[in-house]
Amino acid sequence: MLCALGLTVGGCELPTAASDMGAFVEVNNDNGAVMKKDGYQYKQLGSKYFVRVDKDAEIVSVLKEICKENNISAGEITGLGAIKSVTFGFFNPKTKEYKEKTFNDYMEITSLVGNVSEKDGDTYLHLHMNASGKDYKTIGGHLVNAVVSATSEIVIDAVDGNIGRKFSEEIGLNLFDF
Ligand code: FE
Repeated sequence: MLCALGLTVGGCELPTAASDMGAFVEVNNDNGAVMKKDGYQYKQLGSKYFVRVDKDAEIVSVLKEICKENNISAGEITGLGAIKSVTFGFFNPKTKEYKEKTFNDYMEITSLVGNVSEKDGDTYLHLHMNASGKDYKTIGGHLVNAVVSATSEIVIDAVDGNIGRKFSEEIGLNLFDF
């Protein structure tokens, strides 16, 4: 299957698990406000949102939900963590299609990188990830979805303004559209 149903991420569709996670609870402690929800919590410091994604939550849908909640339409994402399943896409420029592959195993996220933009008024995440397993070998690709096994720590660096996207017939992808 090339794309599952739900959110649009890097040309593929993703499940919308985070939207079923219930309402935010704002908790204020001595260090400021923390937004908590089943599956994740985050805290804003300046332009950066520090996100803790909890066991069993799906990372991409959580990040999209936080961006929508905070009207973030341009920014950078970096992260790490531990996962128990991941689906990567590989874009073939000749066929202009993604081929997806799912890995169900305990892995470390050795690098999660990406950006936030907007397409047709909706939040658009483009994420790539490397992950390594018990053999310390790394696999990676275009991130479709990933489920946390222990915890994941991700920073969204939001900037003012917006970055758009437009589908390119020539390339077969939604390119940055300035
Ligand atoms: Fe990609």
